[in-house]
Parts: sequence; structure tokens; C-alpha cells
Amino acid sequence: MNNTEEIVSLCKRRGIIFPGSDVYGGMAGTWDFGPLGVAIKKKIMDEWWNFWVEKRDDIYGIDAAILMNPRTWVASGHTATFSDPLVECGNCHGRFRADHLGDFSEHVTRQELMDAAAKCPTCHQCDWGEVRQFNMMFETHVGAVKNDTSVAYLRPETAQGIFTNYKNVVDSIYPDIPFGLAQQGKAFRNEISPRDFILRDRECSQMEIEYFVHPDTWEENFEKLLDETHYFLTDVMKLPKSKLHDLEVPAEDRAHYSKRTVDIEFDYPNGREELMGIAYRSDFDLQNIMKASGKNVEYRDKNTKETFVPHVIEPSIGVERLMFAVLSAAYDEDEIDGSRRVVLRLPENLAPFRFCVSPLLKNKSELVEKAKFVYDKLREKYGNVTWDDSGNIGKRYRKQDEIGTPKCVVIDFDTLEDGTVTVRDRDTAKQTRIKIEEL
Ligand SMILES: [Zn+2]
Repeated sequence: MNNTEEIVSLCKRRGIIFPGSDVYGGMAGTWDFGPLGVAIKKKIMDEWWNFWVEKRDDIYGIDAAILMNPRTWVASGHTATFSDPLVECGNCHGRFRADHLGDFSEHVTRQELMDAAAKCPTCHQCDWGEVRQFNMMFETHVGAVKNDTSVAYLRPETAQGIFTNYKNVVDSIYPDIPFGLAQQGKAFRNEISPRDFILRDRECSQMEIEYFVHPDTWEENFEKLLDETHYFLTDVMKLPKSKLHDLEVPAEDRAHYSKRTVDIEFDYPNGREELMGIAYRSDFDLQNIMKASGKNVEYRDKNTKETFVPHVIEPSIGVERLMFAVLSAAYDEDEIDGSRRVVLRLPENLAPFRFCVSPLLKNKSELVEKAKFVYDKLREKYGNVTWDDSGNIGKRYRKQDEIGTPKCVVIDFDTLEDGTVTVRDRDTAKQTRIKIEEL
């Protein structure tokens, strides 16, 4: 079922995700996170950091600058090959990704487009110019002078910020191998035609790990990271196993230096799409840095005294892709007492609020006072608790269902008598009475 539009509409209505620069008519390929969206996004990022960095002894965090020396992108190959095939319509002069005009490969030619009678999505003519490679890095200028020597790029991936710091980390904290370096941060790619909500945007947040291993052990470490990644997706992000699929990327589609890449795909509302990837990158990046910088990046094993350039396994995931997976897995519509409702069945650890507290009536000061007491108590214990005394109880439940609050706590006249409250469950809509102390 493709309910992307319903999810996009819910996200805007409830302050989760807005189109970027909405007030000025938008900015293609950008999205802004509202008060509830940033809460979910931050929880996703914190859970990832907690799982991969804080709870482990072998993975360390770093946070590199977005602007990097342009030599970085020459050495990494981005300057030469980080591009998509671009073609222009001879009739309306619209520009499109050539391989998206039909069932074409990334190496599609003008002749193939003409032979297949591929139509322009805008004017429906078939009149194509030559296909050329369009580099997707965002260019900018650093400093007061604007010329060829001041060119810099907004980083197209966070990974190079890790590789360029590998030597500093090894020389400063002497980690035992295997070890990983993890980073979260913004990355930018100038997509020719951004689409599919937050799946293909021009500015995104990445969470990447470069895991450095002895070359002889890459296979077992790859398996281990793949297992741990699945555990993270199903047990921490609570994504349904049935919607996750491993795709072994065939040799012809892998980077030339990689002997194995697994894409983990997810069943999004608009079809099966890549959620994340785990790639064996051999010593490709460190060797490139060694050649380009002249600095020795060999690792010396403290126990065996062996010296070698480590190989790397890279689990890489986009925060927005993960968040869309979480939102679409949680989105549901059902019927409660004969009327339809929209409900976001977010796991407790990712919901913006754990509880919503409200007095049954907002004009009865004794109820409001007691409710405030419960609200303060729960907020002290859990942190993310919200207050709602607007409209009637039914309307409050609907609103909390839509933003994914697992439990609503209502203070009524019985509370004043016996110290119990009504707790209404988001998923079942069932109400139970329990003592305040049991919350
Ligand atoms: Zn056209």
C-alpha cells in the first residue's frame, strides 16, 4: 500500500517534518524537522550512538568538519566519479537523470534514449541531447577570494572525515585492532531530481562506522557487523523483520576494490528501496590517503609487532532513510468505536513523548492541580512527558495517537478520592485504572 502522501500530510499537520523553506515556496530536496520530528530524529541518532559507541569497547566517536581540504575528494575519487548521468530535453530544456527516464543503466547513451523513445517527463517529446556526467558535489568558496584556488566542497559523505582522522586517532589513543570509528553528521549531494520525500534529499544526516581490521579477518568481522546491524534494526529501531531484506550486491555492481557489499533494503510504502549498506572497502581509502599525503598510515600490532595497512568494513546509514522506515512501519489506520483513526505505533524508545497527562476537565482547579502534580512527577522520572488540556478527552486521544504517544494518563474525580488514574493505551485504546505510584 502506498500511503506516502498520508504520511507526508500527517508529518506536516503534526509538526514532524515540513518542506524546507516552506514560507518562501520551498527549496527542492530539503526538509525541515519540526518540534516532534526533531525529537524522533534525535532519539534515533542517540540510540545508534548508544548502541555502537557507548555500549562497546571497540568503537570510538569522532566529529569532523564539514568543509575539508579539496585534496580529500581527489584522493577518494569523488572529484572524478561522484556523478550521475544528466541529459537535457531539446524541446523544453528541462534537465533529468538519464537513467530515470525508463529502465536504463547508469551508462545509458543518447542513442539508447532515442531508440527506446523515452519521453520527456515535462513536455512528453523525445528530443534528447548528449548524456553527460554531472558531479554531485556542492561547490563553495572559502575565504574572501573567489577563484579556482578557493574552491571547497560540502562533504558528500561523512566517511572521509573518519579516514582522514584515522592516523590522529591511532597516534593519540592507540586502540587495539579491530576497532571502529563512528561519526554522525550532515552530508550533501546535489541530486539532479530529488524525490520520494526524505529518501532522496540534497542534504542529509549520515551515521557511519569505519571498522578497521587485520586483512586476514575481514570476512568474520563482516559477518559479525552484519549480525549486529540486524539486531540494531529489529531490536532497537523495532523495524519488522519481514520488511528487511539483505541484497548481496553482485560483483559487477560493486566498487572495484570491494569483495563484498550487502545492501539492506526496506519495504517502504512506495516500494523496496535501499535502507543502508555494509561494504568491505579493503585498504582502498587508507592507501589513497598514504599516496596523496605521503604520511604513513600503517598499523603496528602491539602484541605480534606485525605492521600492516588495515582493511575496512563500513556500515553506513542515512538518518532520514531510517526515520522514514520507522515512520512508515509505525503508521496505521484502524477503527475505534465505529470511527476511523490514524495512529503512529512508534516504539516507546523513539516516540516524542512517553506519556500525555491531562485533567478530565480544565475548569476544575482541584483536578488541574492534581494533574500538574502527576505531570511533574512523571517528567522528573521519564523526561519526555507532554501536557494536554485542550478540547475533550476524545480529541486529545486522537491527537496523541497521531503523534505516537504510547500512554495517556487522565486525572478525574476518583483520583482525588483513591489516588488512581486512568491509563489509556495507544495501540489497543483500552483503559485501565492504576495507582499513581505504579506509573
Ligand atoms: Zn521536455
